[in-house]
Amino acid sequence: MTGNTLRLGRILGIEIKLDYSWFVIFVLVTWSLAGQLFPGSYPAWPRMAYWVVGLITALLFFGSVLAHELAHSLVSQRYGVPVTDITLFIFGGAAHISEEPKTARGELVMALAGPLTSLLLAGLFGVLWFVTRGTGSYLYAVASWLAGINLSLAVFNLIPGFPLDGGRVFRAIVWAISGNLRLATRIATGLGRLVAFGFIMAGVGQIFAGNLANGLWIAFIGWFLENASASTYRRLALHDMLAGHKVSEIMTAECAHIPADLMVDALVNDLLLPTGRRCFPVEDGGRVQGLVTVHRIQQVPREQWPRTRVDQIMIPRDQLKTVQPDEELSTVLDRMTGEDVNQLIVVQGDDLLGLVARDRLLNYIQMRGELGV
Ligand SMILES: [Zn+2]
Repeated sequence: MTGNTLRLGRILGIEIKLDYSWFVIFVLVTWSLAGQLFPGSYPAWPRMAYWVVGLITALLFFGSVLAHELAHSLVSQRYGVPVTDITLFIFGGAAHISEEPKTARGELVMALAGPLTSLLLAGLFGVLWFVTRGTGSYLYAVASWLAGINLSLAVFNLIPGFPLDGGRVFRAIVWAISGNLRLATRIATGLGRLVAFGFIMAGVGQIFAGNLANGLWIAFIGWFLENASASTYRRLALHDMLAGHKVSEIMTAECAHIPADLMVDALVNDLLLPTGRRCFPVEDGGRVQGLVTVHRIQQVPREQWPRTRVDQIMIPRDQLKTVQPDEELSTVLDRMTGEDVNQLIVVQGDDLLGLVARDRLLNYIQMRGELGV
């Protein structure tokens, strides 16, 4: 789900995005409602009505998916776990939760909030369906389909395969009993992969039974779930490997302070190339004002190097992403991935101690992997 997304705006501080794959499912849902389902059930409607009502119903459906994800997000924030964005994509919605939940109770409530919201919506549309029954009206058609689909959403998400909500509920319960999040995640992702495998098998069975489209769809959902639980598992293994190790172990501490009026070509020829250092804090008036990185130098055309001062290309101090020397490396890995940055500046109080770079961290992980330590 990385890459191609459309920003829709913010709801309660959470960025709402559409992945381009979402348009595929939106067209499919609208088409199956307007082209098949509604004409089959309500043959007396005017032709245009199928498409207008189909479109409105499809939009309300994705509104329901969004409400489900918003419920997860709001509860998550309430329990102190920040949510940066919600992305709607081909298989539904996903809230981007940057950290693991802090307590089993928090995880349980957070996981249940989505399916409960879907159940609530199913109930509301169910009431609307009940009061309009026998009318055959547009409202009745919309309400009956949305009641059913929200009920299906709630039930599907409660399947105990991590990362589905039911899998999170399962993980929270194992966590609460064992007191061990890692163990709980290991068991829950294992079960998740089993459930995913079941989906793939069921999909293949459907394909052999002649239901090609349905079978492919089910198998794809299984494949997506398998990927998601496998990557959660891999992340956990990485965290295990990094556990107990701190930023200070791998940071580059050799930072040569440079004056603000130094020219870029002098920096490159006299300091960067001879020493191989990558960390150059720019000092002015006895205080660090920013940092010049190799990446910043690359953005200036070479012929301008003799005419460009380092303070013109530095990252200003207030824009530097910083980290403490005693911070866990697993947190650093999460931040680099989550914020999409290649380095973090190590600071203690007002002191700039060095930097920790992504390639150094990846190298460290690879080394430990090779040595099995
Ligand atoms: Zn959910």
